Amino acid sequence: MTKENKVVKFVCPKCKHNNLECCMDGPHTCQVTEINIYGDHEYGEYESTATVSRWQCAYCGYVLKNGDDPIWDNSDVAQWCLDYCSQE
Ligand SMILES: [Zn+2]
Repeated sequence: MTKENKVVKFVCPKCKHNNLECCMDGPHTCQVTEINIYGDHEYGEYESTATVSRWQCAYCGYVLKNGDDPIWDNSDVAQWCLDYCSQE
């Protein structure tokens, strides 16, 4: 089975902008193990206890919801976009 690398488009139902913002809740840290002379960073273990609290339009703050519940799961976001946004 091949997985199609299709991009799902987000169109805000309220303001028609395309910038989707992911809002995290809680702390998350990222360990930098090495910084070379060119300024490139080598990252160690990425640790995050933060959870996505909501997805919203970066422009007007419209929150993506399934009924009354804000959507936080990545696959739900994709499905929401397919259901509510024009993919043309
Ligand atoms: Zn918007």
